[in-house]
Amino acid sequence: MKNLVFLGAPGAGKGTQAKRISEKYDIPHISTGDILRANIKAGTELGKLAKSYIDKGALVPDEVIIKVMQARLAEDDCKKGYLLDGFPRTIEQAKALDEITKVALAVNIAVDDEAVVARIAGRRMCACGESYHVSTHPSDVCDKCGAKLYQRDDDKEETVKSRLEVYYRQTAPLIEYYSAKGILVDVDGMKDVAEVTDSIIKVIDGNC
Ligand code: AMP
Repeated sequence: MKNLVFLGAPGAGKGTQAKRISEKYDIPHISTGDILRANIKAGTELGKLAKSYIDKGALVPDEVIIKVMQARLAEDDCKKGYLLDGFPRTIEQAKALDEITKVALAVNIAVDDEAVVARIAGRRMCACGESYHVSTHPSDVCDKCGAKLYQRDDDKEETVKSRLEVYYRQTAPLIEYYSAKGILVDVDGMKDVAEVTDSIIKVIDGNC
């Protein structure tokens, strides 16, 4: 069963790879960041609460995000597998996830620190879900839908620093957590997008 978790620092390429991999295996791509941003846009209570944390580069409290994921993972489409992007982000969340479902494989997309900062600074998003980098896509409109691209507020420099700090303190320990369970694989995230996708497909086919 393809019950997959993607790990990696902000800017490692989790979202980009998750999109490609979920299409290849026809499993839902579940991004907690996307769920929270959709709630902010819709002005829900969850969105209002999440915004106050996201704007600071801090994590939304575990109990809030765990409830969101309990509901999402109970949906029918997750019966055929799932790809989690941005969850779990703390040991507490990983333990809660283990109570909900059995994770088959955790893929850690490893990148250098400097690359992460440069990638995030140049990242541009489209409301349709596509994302681009200014170095490879200088135009400010989306190739897929033609809408104007924008920079995520939390991709601005000050917030990125906090997000990286949070990553190393709270999320990086998950590498050890999944490694101890014998289900962690590392993938070199410094190669180009298509090569990283190929490496991920190889490890999934070899392990699930
Ligand atoms: P992302 O799009 O994955 O980079 O997430 C953007 C922001 O949403 C993060 O910096 C956190 O503030 C929040 N967030 C996303 N996923 C989680 C999670 N699993 N736990 C806590 N906060 C989260």
